[in-house]
Amino acid sequence: RKITQVLNVPFDAVTMKEAVVMVKLLLETGGQHFICTPNPEIVMEAQKDKELMSVLREADMVVPDGIGVVWASKYSSIRLKERVAGYDLTQNLFAELAKTEKTFYFFGGAPGVATEAARRMQRKYPGLKIVGVHNGYFDAKEEKLIIRDIKKLSPSILLVGLGAPKQEKWIYDNMRLLGAKVSIGVGGSFDVMAG
Ligand code: UDP
Repeated sequence: RKITQVLNVPFDAVTMKEAVVMVKLLLETGGQHFICTPNPEIVMEAQKDKELMSVLREADMVVPDGIGVVWASKYSSIRLKERVAGYDLTQNLFAELAKTEKTFYFFGGAPGVATEAARRMQRKYPGLKIVGVHNGYFDAKEEKLIIRDIKKLSPSILLVGLGAPKQEKWIYDNMRLLGAKVSIGVGGSFDVMAG
């Protein structure tokens, strides 16, 4: 990995194309992996939230969801190449993986949003395999059922849209239980997909 630190957060200096290649590589590598797409607000929040900082520092790939982070790397020896937003990354992965056997699970958003997002993305990307969806509002009891559902379906890629930094911490805490190869925190992306 070619890394540049922005306020101690290790960002991968990759283009969108390279980020997609990296995800495909992680899909073929043993174990579970996770990807974070912090914007400047989250980088700032990590300065005072130790748990968030350690999660970001342990991620398998960190890409900048915001041009401000790219600018902040301007005077580093390794510069960030471009903005790689979570939403754009999901669209590129759908386009790239729709014609393969790779599967997705959408977790997050208000009731109905992930379902509508899945419907629209399957229409936009023929062949896209979304094996499960669940909204992002749950209590402890329901959380166990969600984890069990994801585990049972074992998606290639789990998209988690619980808002930052909740989603990053949730992925980190539960990754080993989920059976997804790659988990990605995607913020409000399901709202955008659902239109
Ligand atoms: N959300 C959720 N569960 C929660 C809190 C938030 O599923 O307990 C969802 C919310 O419905 C929205 C997303 O998380 O879809 C947060 O979007 P926002 O754009 O505020 O987050 P960001 O992209 O800034 O992380």
